[in-house]
Amino acid sequence: MLNLVINGLVLIGAGILLASLGPIRRLIKQLSAGRVRRDWCFLTGLIIFIIAGYFSYVLTNWNSHGDLSGLVVALVFFSGACFVWVANSLSLQTALDVRRVAALEHENITDPLMNIYNRRYLDRRLVQEVTRAIRYNLPLSILLLDIDHFKNINDTHGHQIGDLVLKALGKILLDAVRTTDIVARYGGEEILIIASNTPGSSVALVAERLRHKVESSVLVPPDAKNNQEAIQITISIGVSDLSRGNNDVPTLVADADRALYRAKQEGRNRVTIGLGINPSRPLTAVPGINEKDASYL
Ligand code: GH3
Ligand code: MG
Ligand code: MG
Repeated sequence: MLNLVINGLVLIGAGILLASLGPIRRLIKQLSAGRVRRDWCFLTGLIIFIIAGYFSYVLTNWNSHGDLSGLVVALVFFSGACFVWVANSLSLQTALDVRRVAALEHENITDPLMNIYNRRYLDRRLVQEVTRAIRYNLPLSILLLDIDHFKNINDTHGHQIGDLVLKALGKILLDAVRTTDIVARYGGEEILIIASNTPGSSVALVAERLRHKVESSVLVPPDAKNNQEAIQITISIGVSDLSRGNNDVPTLVADADRALYRAKQEGRNRVTIGLGINPSRPLTAVPGINEKDASYL
């Protein structure tokens, strides 16, 4: 009778171990290839080996009468299996929770239409980046972009096409900037890019590259079925950096905003450099940027 209890406990333990492979399988599916995934696969192999051990224990003890020490061993086997099951289930639950929190965080800081950062995140990062740049005396530039005559696109093709344009623009910008740059929706169709560790002279070249890339891209392909022609746009960009005497977020952004305003005034589809508070800059020519602005680079 005692031996039946012992073997029963060990067999139930083996069943619990088998069941614990389920959460591990789900967990492994969540993981991308790498060391952690390999380690979980190794753990799976180890558990299968232990299950085989449980069965061989039962087989070798099948005909014995059973004693107290056998019962203790069986209880240890059983609780070991429970431990593995709880640990695996908790690991899976923790991984799912972490993933859910990451998805929520992503949603919280992302603009759903353009798939770039939203204004809330931008405001936070602007303060952080400007504070850090000033503290460590590092260069920092920003680019403020606005689509030219975007209202016409909405009026002519409808807001849905306007939304597609914004979506495509978000992708073009993300593909074109460095991964360390922060691209965020500043307002309706205005985008602000923070280029940390980058002086205005280099970022003006980046801005010019972006302007050219947008100008030469088809944002919405033609669709003969819906009588929809290909849509291309141009953008105007205002650039400012800390070195022009701008020493906090409001002055930096206001400088870029004024530069953007000048770009619009001077005919759009161009990059204009902010004058800052103290525009005493060495001359540097940037192709595509008008003479007056180049003098402030
Ligand atoms: P400008 O060259 O002076 O910038 O001319 P503009 O027509 O682009 O003028 P403005 O920048 O003031 O235009 C803002 C337009 O952007 C008006 C608004 O309908 C449109 N807009 C803002 N947000 C969205 C959006 O999420 N979707 C769509 N489809 N349009 C938007
Ligand atoms: Mg506009
Ligand atoms: Mg605008």
